[in-house]
Amino acid sequence: MAMQQFQAESKKLMDLMINSIYTNKEIFLRELISNASDAIDKLYFKSLTDSSVGMNKEDFRILLTLDKDNRILTISDNGIGMTRAELEENLGTIAHSGSLDFKQENKDENIDIIGQFGVGFYSAFMVADKVTVISRAFGSDEAWQWESSGVEGYELTPAEKETPGTEIILHIKSNTETEQYDNFVSEYGIVAIVKKYSDYVRYPIQMERTKS
Ligand code: ADP
Ligand code: MG
Repeated sequence: MAMQQFQAESKKLMDLMINSIYTNKEIFLRELISNASDAIDKLYFKSLTDSSVGMNKEDFRILLTLDKDNRILTISDNGIGMTRAELEENLGTIAHSGSLDFKQENKDENIDIIGQFGVGFYSAFMVADKVTVISRAFGSDEAWQWESSGVEGYELTPAEKETPGTEIILHIKSNTETEQYDNFVSEYGIVAIVKKYSDYVRYPIQMERTKS
């Protein structure tokens, strides 16, 4: 499967994230949980008028799974999911936020912008050297995997997933002399970050640790 290219703006934002010296890297989790919550909102609202959704409000949840040995943190939701086209469109291009323009105009203030406005999905690259997204859109019978290790591009391949929703699989970076990432593969660390930034989220956030 050939590597697909990111849109130029995406590349810039991603490069900024990968090489980020921003100390508050933990906000990536706030961004990914808020995306999960948005996706659940969409399916929840649909469920109010469309009985084929077959879900009640209590059925929705965000699941955090930690595989410490392999340094993998997964954020899963049972929300609306993404089709192949939506994966390309939503994760390969930046259609929205003016935050990147703002960043380029205010180079010295890069750091505050990240914290204040959020940079969304690409903030995952502050803590992960590879990001794998497996998603199945509601109403579709196929699932797709989107995977990227950085600005070189991303790959889209068919995947298996039983139910609608999205899994964001983060391959957490190894520590370097100057940067520590172990907090993001620690149950204690993750719980603290969730409490700090995602307390307001309307859906339950559950934590699961794979046995080692
Ligand atoms: P924003 O949330 O501001 O739109 P993001 O960079 O955080 O920007 O996300 C980009 C887009 O990717 C979202 O608008 C959404 O369409 C899609 N997306 C991201 N995460 C998910 C998810 N867990 N489920 C469904 N769609 C998602
Ligand atoms: Mg977002």
